[in-house]
Amino acid sequence: MDPVSQARAVVAHDLRQGGILDQQLEGYEERLPQVQMAEAVAESLTNGQHALVEAQTGTGKSLAYLLPIVRSGKIALVATANKALQEQLFYKDIPFIQKYVQQFEAALIKGMSNYLCLKHLDEERPLQHYAQNPAFAHVNDLLNEETFDGDLDMLPFALPKDIRGRIAADGDDCAWRECGFYSDCYVRKMRERAQTAQIVVVNHTLLLLDILMEGWLLPDRDAIVIDEAHHLEDEATRAFTATVTPRRIETLLGQRRLREHCDPAQLEAAIAANVFCWSRLEEVTRFGTRNRAPLDGPLEEGLRLASALEDVKRQLQSRKPEVMDKGEETLYDKLVTRTSNLVADIRLVLGVKDPENRVYYVERVPSRRGREPSLSVSAAPLSVTEMLTEKLFDRISVVATSATLAIDGSFKYYRGRVGIGDAQELVLPPAFDYERNAVLYVPYMKHEPTFGKENGPYHDELAREMGDLVRASHGRAFLLFTSMRTLREVWERLAEDLTNEGYFLLSQDSELGRAELLRRFKTGERAVLFGLRSFWEGIDVQGEALSLVAIDKLPFDPPDDPVHEARVNRMKAAGQNWFGDYVLPQAILRLKQGVGRLLRTRTDRGVLAILDSRLLTKFYGKQVVHALPPAKRTTKIEQVRAFFADDV
Ligand code: SF4
Repeated sequence: MDPVSQARAVVAHDLRQGGILDQQLEGYEERLPQVQMAEAVAESLTNGQHALVEAQTGTGKSLAYLLPIVRSGKIALVATANKALQEQLFYKDIPFIQKYVQQFEAALIKGMSNYLCLKHLDEERPLQHYAQNPAFAHVNDLLNEETFDGDLDMLPFALPKDIRGRIAADGDDCAWRECGFYSDCYVRKMRERAQTAQIVVVNHTLLLLDILMEGWLLPDRDAIVIDEAHHLEDEATRAFTATVTPRRIETLLGQRRLREHCDPAQLEAAIAANVFCWSRLEEVTRFGTRNRAPLDGPLEEGLRLASALEDVKRQLQSRKPEVMDKGEETLYDKLVTRTSNLVADIRLVLGVKDPENRVYYVERVPSRRGREPSLSVSAAPLSVTEMLTEKLFDRISVVATSATLAIDGSFKYYRGRVGIGDAQELVLPPAFDYERNAVLYVPYMKHEPTFGKENGPYHDELAREMGDLVRASHGRAFLLFTSMRTLREVWERLAEDLTNEGYFLLSQDSELGRAELLRRFKTGERAVLFGLRSFWEGIDVQGEALSLVAIDKLPFDPPDDPVHEARVNRMKAAGQNWFGDYVLPQAILRLKQGVGRLLRTRTDRGVLAILDSRLLTKFYGKQVVHALPPAKRTTKIEQVRAFFADDV
């Protein structure tokens, strides 16, 4: 048997009836899509070809990529979207394979600021305010526990944010090998564990940072698996974006070392230039209705700020003490590099240095507790394909997987956006019986959503539809919105009546965080949650608690978002089909994510409503509907009521 066939056969045998899992787990049932995915990953690991795999909820995709890695003996990085998913892989999925399939070493790497820094802890100890805090004392007690690995997310008690900020590790303030605590350092231990692990679990941000640093940050590897890979373009855009904020500059200028070694007049000049720069930026920026606005040309005051900081840097270099201990010298040099990087970023961003390849924009960042919003200014790449191709896909074999990568069985859009070349492709069928268990409701509505205009009649109709649906489903509903404005309009029209009728209403337009909203939703009777984009994905409510997902409209990017607008304009200028090849596929994949909230297990039932009649009237509507799971389709609310009547 050739190596590829052999690798495929090994993992297929593990996962099929009679295999290693079946022999040990009572009631084990093989899942064909999972076997197919594991075979594809095994093939990719063996022949070094990339793989693109779309696998729906219920496929068991973590096992389908972890198992082939373990069986191949190769070393792999597994990158997923966020810390919660990293923890699920590391504390749940990996131990499962270690227990039932094969022992192997694994490591979890989070960003440095997630770990306890022993030096910072030591510096805080003499400060009475912290020393007397019970949580602080608790952290000290943990130092004696062998199982504690320094991960501040895994503490068995709540740690106040301010204390966490003071005792967390910070790359800018770490002398690494020259640090007196290096031998016991949790960050060092975590990195050493990763050096000998076969599977290292990271998040997208760390992976992209590592790519930018030419592989310096993370251990050597034979292959990379990117889970939740539909985020890759956005995450890469974020990682390759340079951003400058007033706070970034203030924090640097507030550094003790900098203040000690810099001439006060020089420092004052830099502080004044900083204040002047941001107030000028505020004056010249026209925000309109959104919090983002393009920066069309260089800002003189920004370039002056860069020069003032350049002077600070020169002074730091010329005043560097001749005698310093090694640790102090490392931190001093880091400070000079940090100042230098900031100067370069300010020149790039506020100098609008590379308009051919970047889009420049100013953002107003809302502040909490009634403070003035602050500004930030960024230079984002117009395209991430070249960078990803050169630094990732041309160098190593990548398996990219998610529930939403393909449209009508084709990966064309995804390939084009991230720059992945020749790859094995696999679209797996839904793991659940949508035809039997779900209804897709798209009503004919009199009014269509319009961007940026007052649209009272549309909001009236939308609220009426949502109210009818909630009553039909007896709550147990997610009402998902593409904008805060629409959420508020519908809330105003519905909240009082629904509350009086005994529904338990929750809204993302409140002080409650996502986790708490979700907890209350799961435990509340007749709960209805008004949610924004963060509820469209990564949310898992199983069973009857969620029986209706109603989406206000197709999730197109707002046309006046500077990054989106610049990307569209570039395609227009090149004579490309910007709507069909970019705007529409992007919206379809997002919609598929929202739709994926409904059925989470084989026995779940529910209604998915998309209250956007453009799906019925516009030329692209059919394409959108066709890309969704094969639920029964209806335009009639009576059929929705009949579906739920069977349910109670
Ligand atoms: S080496 Fe860095 S992270 Fe570790 S204890 Fe020292 S300063 Fe903290």
